[in-house]
Formats: sequence, C-alpha cells, structure tokens
Amino acid sequence: LRWWNHVFPAPKDPISGVTEAFLADTCPRKINLGVGAYRDDEGKPVVLQCVREAEAKISGCNFLESVFSKVSSKLVEESVKLVYGKDSEVVKEGSYAGIQAISGTGACRLFAEFQRRFYPGSQIYFPDPTWSNHHNIWRDAQVPRRNFHYYDWNAKGLNFSALIDDIKNAPDGSFFLLHPCAHNPTGVDPTEKQWREISYWFKVKNHFPFFDTAYQGFASGDLDQDAQSIRIFLEDGHWIGCAQSFSKNMGLYGHRVGCLSILCADTEKAAAVKSQLEKIARAMYGSPPVHGILLVSSILGDPNIKRLWEKEVKVMVDRIQRMRATLIESLTKLSSSHDWEHIKDQVGMFCYSGLTPEQVNRLRAEFSIYMTRDGRMSMAGVTTGNVSYLANALHEVTK
Ligand code: PLP
Repeated sequence: LRWWNHVFPAPKDPISGVTEAFLADTCPRKINLGVGAYRDDEGKPVVLQCVREAEAKISGCNFLESVFSKVSSKLVEESVKLVYGKDSEVVKEGSYAGIQAISGTGACRLFAEFQRRFYPGSQIYFPDPTWSNHHNIWRDAQVPRRNFHYYDWNAKGLNFSALIDDIKNAPDGSFFLLHPCAHNPTGVDPTEKQWREISYWFKVKNHFPFFDTAYQGFASGDLDQDAQSIRIFLEDGHWIGCAQSFSKNMGLYGHRVGCLSILCADTEKAAAVKSQLEKIARAMYGSPPVHGILLVSSILGDPNIKRLWEKEVKVMVDRIQRMRATLIESLTKLSSSHDWEHIKDQVGMFCYSGLTPEQVNRLRAEFSIYMTRDGRMSMAGVTTGNVSYLANALHEVTK
C-alpha cells in the first residue's frame, strides 16, 4: 500500500509564500513588505532592551514543571490588566477565565474550539477583509464563517453604515470577531464614537464580541489608548472574549506567547470555563513552552521593565509613522498623480495600498519588492535607506 498517495501539496500560505520568494531573490535592492513583524531602520529584526533585561532577570531560574502554574497565572493576571485596565472591576473581582496560549493564533484556535463545543451550530462573523488565517482557524474548528462589511474599497476607509447594517441583520446572539486596534490588513479603525455605536448595537442584538488583539500599542503608541475599544465594550457591560499576542509589541514572534480571556458572570463560572479551556489545550498540545511566558510576565510584572517596554513600543510606532510620512513626501516629489492620502490616515503596521494584483506582480518582477497580492505593505519593512527606491517603484507602476 502506498500510504500517502492521495496527499498533494497544500496551497502556499499567502504571507509565508511571499517571504520564500523574497529569500530566493538575489537582487541587492530587494524589499520584503510581506511579513508583519517589526524591523529597525536597517531592516533588521530587533530584540527589545526590555526583553534583554527580562532575560537577565530570569537567567539561572529553574524551568522545572513546578514553576509552570505560578508563571502561567502571573502571565494571565498581567495580560488581562493590559486589555481590560488594571483598575477594572473584572480584574479586581477575577470574574474572567484566562489561560496562556500559543500566541495570538493559538488563543484564536482555542476560542474557536470552545465556541464550537459550547455553542454547536453557531457561526462567526469576520470583518471583510481580515487576517487570512482567521478563516483557516475557524474553518479547521468547523465553525461556519460569515463576513460583515468593514472596508470601503472605493473610499479607502471604513464602510460604517454597511457595518452597522450587518450587525443589525445578523441573527441575535451571533459571534463577531473584532480587531480592537490597528486592523490587519487595512490599517483602518473605527473612531471612538463609532466604537460606542457598534457596542450599542451589539448590546441591542446580544452579540458576542471576540477581540483579536495582536497589535496593542501599534496604532497610537500608547497601550491604554489602543485598548479603548475593549474598554468601551466593558463599560457597556458586554461579556467579552479576547485573544492577546506579544509577537509584535514585544518582538517575541518566535516565543509564541499569548493569552485567551473570557469574561464570566462570577468567579465560579470563570473557574468552570477555564477548566474547559485547559481541557481543550491539554488534548491539543499539552502546555506551552515556559521560557517566553517567563519573559513576558517578567516584563509586565516589573514596573521599571514595563516602563522601558512602553517607551520602546513608542519608538517602534514613531519609526513606522515617520516612514509613512516620508513615503508620501517622496511620492509627492515625484509628482505622482495617484491618490496616496489614505496611507497617512491608516494606522498600525500595515498600509493597504490599493494596488492591483497586476501592479503587485510588476513590483515583484521589475523592482524585487515583495508584498501580498492584496497590496498590503508592511510599513515595518520600509527604512530611510529604501523609502525613495520604494516610492519610485510605486510611482512607476501606478503611472
Ligand atoms: N491576529 C492578527 C490580526 C494578526 O495579524 C496576527 C499575526 O499576524 C495574529 C493574530 C497572530 O499572531 P501570533 O500568532 O504570532 O501572535
């Protein structure tokens, strides 16, 4: 018997496919705008100083399994303070089920499984567009997916009225996935007033808001400000689910540190929900590696290191914003007739350029500039050294 004869290659992931093609390119001027991880002005990955300090602090500590539950609860305690606010009732009362997760992806996957188990037959609504892996995650968990209107491709902004209509038209008690800040891939977030209206309609319709928080800090440079949407929902008395990732804002991609929290009626229900989440995790992967969890809980748990982290987040965000402004300036100097204003308005790590797949192909073939086919550019890949080359290429393909 030829065991795996019926297995054919899976389609390439749109993002890792771009990186593979980039690595194979020998052009010295090549630029990778595909990957959504922070790079410094030399285009290099960064180990934050706060991570170095946390490493020094934990070096020599023993990694026996006996430390695991203590370290893991510390991570959860600190993570929930970051999203819900350290003085929030839910944090003070402990009326949440929190569990460390294998980064943001793992937190989403755990929640998707939990949703299917305890609300069988329920669906999930995603913004259109959303991070492509959301579709894979909920598909694999066998939860049917629907889209709700989000981006207006013509106006290059939020399609707010269609979004509200979709919230109103979804069956009562639906699950919705929301990006609390720095929406991936569009870089377009609702305003505070719009969030209040969204929250209002969620309340009317009894929908469940699940926030996927992969870029806290990256929209405004301020961690509390970037949790504003979640805090609005909290004020309005919603029961919230939240996936958190430290891949981007701590530059810890490879360590896979995250947290899943679900608000509950009281501590007793929270314990029940947590035990079910732990049961799902145990059968999927046991428990996550402890080193990254130690790093993150050491950063969040030490006021000095935490302050340093907050400053470093601001430095990363400032650099990205500077690159947005410089890119627009360079395009203006080239007298580009194309409308690039939206680049300035978008926030977070990405710029949803509006380039067509043909233009994206030309950038790759003629200029060795790589991005996903939807025209999403990671601004973290833009540097002082390559911004004018990029502007020139963008101008050439949009003439
Ligand atoms: N959610 C969104 C919207 C993302 O963009 C990402 C990463 O690109 C993730 C979740 C998950 O990232 P990770 O699993 O590395 O934390």
